[in-house]
Amino acid sequence: MTGETFPCRTCGNPAVQPATGRPRRYCSPACKRRTEQNIRAARRRLRRAERAVSAWHAAVTGQDPLAGLIGTPEDDVRQWQDACARRDQAHADLAALLRGNVAHASPV
Ligand SMILES: [Zn+2]
Repeated sequence: MTGETFPCRTCGNPAVQPATGRPRRYCSPACKRRTEQNIRAARRRLRRAERAVSAWHAAVTGQDPLAGLIGTPEDDVRQWQDACARRDQAHADLAALLRGNVAHASPV
């Protein structure tokens, strides 16, 4: 619809939909690029968080004999739980970015 405005997914500023073509989600190429970069960064954080969960899980279950030698088993469990929480947060952040529910994407 010509003249219809929408909030930019990145900066939240109102922008006008063009009369033809696919509906736009960003006010400018710069905003589109910024959100794409934020999504890539969120994916990297999620991958790192998943690796941490795997490493601490290996320590907790004794699959990795070199892991968790410094702390107590309780420390390992706590680290594993912390890693799980960070993984869940990273997953939620990425999902929010992909849904476009982030008006002001947080800096990396
Ligand atoms: Zn924008």
